[in-house]
Amino acid sequence: MHSLRWAWSYIRTYRTRLIMGLTLALVVSALNMINPYLAGKIVDKVIYGHQDNLLWKFLIVMIGFTFIRTVVRYGYQMMFEKLAQNVIYKMRKDLYDQLHRLDFSFYDQTKTGDLMARMTGDLEAVRHFTAWSIYMIFENAMLLVFGLGFMFYIHPPLALALLAVAPFIGFFAYRLTFAVRPTFTEIRNQFARLNSVVQENISGNRVVKAFAKEDYEIEKLNVENEAFKEKNLLSARVWEKYLPILDSLAGFLTVVMILIGGIMVIKGSLTFGELVTFNSLIWTLSNPMRMAGWLINDVQRFIASAEKVEDLLKTKSNITNNGKTVKLEEFKGVVEFERVHFSYGDKPVLKDISFKAKPGQTIGIIGPTGAGKSTLVNLLSRFYDATHGEVKIDGVNVKEWDLYKLRQEMAMVMQDIFLFSDTIEGNIAYGNPNATLGLVQAAAKMAEAHHFILELQDGYDTIVGERGVGLSGGQRQRIALARAILKNPSILILDDTTSSVDMETELKIQNTLKSTQQNKTCFIIAHRISSVKEADFILVMDHGRIIEKGKHEELLKKKGYYFTVYQNQFGNFDQKLLGQDVILVGA
Ligand code: ADP
Repeated sequence: MHSLRWAWSYIRTYRTRLIMGLTLALVVSALNMINPYLAGKIVDKVIYGHQDNLLWKFLIVMIGFTFIRTVVRYGYQMMFEKLAQNVIYKMRKDLYDQLHRLDFSFYDQTKTGDLMARMTGDLEAVRHFTAWSIYMIFENAMLLVFGLGFMFYIHPPLALALLAVAPFIGFFAYRLTFAVRPTFTEIRNQFARLNSVVQENISGNRVVKAFAKEDYEIEKLNVENEAFKEKNLLSARVWEKYLPILDSLAGFLTVVMILIGGIMVIKGSLTFGELVTFNSLIWTLSNPMRMAGWLINDVQRFIASAEKVEDLLKTKSNITNNGKTVKLEEFKGVVEFERVHFSYGDKPVLKDISFKAKPGQTIGIIGPTGAGKSTLVNLLSRFYDATHGEVKIDGVNVKEWDLYKLRQEMAMVMQDIFLFSDTIEGNIAYGNPNATLGLVQAAAKMAEAHHFILELQDGYDTIVGERGVGLSGGQRQRIALARAILKNPSILILDDTTSSVDMETELKIQNTLKSTQQNKTCFIIAHRISSVKEADFILVMDHGRIIEKGKHEELLKKKGYYFTVYQNQFGNFDQKLLGQDVILVGA
């Protein structure tokens, strides 16, 4: 019922179409009574009454109504299909909007394959229910009502005798409903798992090949595929047990009718024509009974899928645009961390982080892998919110900023670079789609990408493959950097952006950024000292804490962690050989 109520929130927009469709289905169900009625009349009036002239009239009326019924049925079937397509269109759109609203922690915990299952298989189950099951249930129910009504009208005792089968049908239909529901939920969940394996294998096909793990991955899929098959068979075993029972009970109706009806005809309480009408009407009872099993399956399949779709639509994002959003006309880019702590779940990652950066300053962040560098900058764009303490921009807690304004004013080149399968120009202009080619090229020049782009087959019109396949790591980094520069943000965050770029090119990029991004606050996360050495100040992080802070020269004088890293990168190999700790830095 709950799923139906939820589906109704979508269907009700098209309730006029729904009511029209159901009305037409009602008409068709009523029209179904005409042929059995006329069949009885033909027997009584034409065969036994010898009124031969009536035969043609009856036949023409029968053909006429059959034609009308077919046309009307086609009409409402199309109505329901259209209704279902509109409903699914809206649901898909809502799901897609919701996927964009959900935050990083949701994506951390959810498999892409599961989301794809909701966007495809689950929506299809909802479509099937809306386009087909609704009117089939209604049509069959009405057929039953009209058929029974008509039978009671002709001969109540015989109708009552047939109705005696109904409680048995009801009993088995009820049992089927509850037995089959969990099996459809299982099938649906297994489908999501199967999808995840396929999706991961497509995305990670290069890794699979590089490690020659094809057999392992095929076996992994076989396991899920086998489980999917088994769960379908298990479900089939459940409903296959009930369908023959329902079918036999439906068939039993004919036996009851012939037996009791025959006796009544012999005794003269029923005409032969009426028995023929009963015989023709019997399918109005047996058909709904036979269909009951299939329709119950459809409804249960719908419920299993609708719950998943609804769950996703109702998932709340932890990162929301709070009511008290601040709308400052001019975003300056003063960044302040005040005693900030952050945990992923219950795993503390940032501890007591405090610093202040002003517009025009470049802040270098350095430290071993897992120190919390990326997490720190993620708090700026509110990919996650601080667990304690305050992250402020221009003196205002980031939670109070309009989320979209905040993100518009920032550009981040992430470690894991994602390029869309689009032209290079399209990729660079992603954050600023109205930019002219001139501006795109200027950004590419600043990112030292212009020359290699010109050397590509179609220059800026070259289509890069999914995720930027076809470009080297350093080329992808430079395109991502150009994309960030073109956005002209107040705060620029470069997370290990030039790690795959040679030192000479990196130096050129740094010089350009220095001269062109003067009024911006720029964060550079790096593992090369050369990348951060010119920064206004450098934060050295380890185990979620800032362990050293200052300019390059100041940090060297401290002879602490930074100094050791410097030595490791710029020489003094003697000390290394003498056994001093070699600290590997990475981002
Ligand atoms: P760095 O950028 O310095 O390499 P990160 O900020 O990426 O470090 O990670 C800091 C710590 O947080 C690591 O221990 C890492 O395993 C953990 N971590 C990073 N991202 C997540 C996440 N999405 N969920 C849970 N833990 C995470």
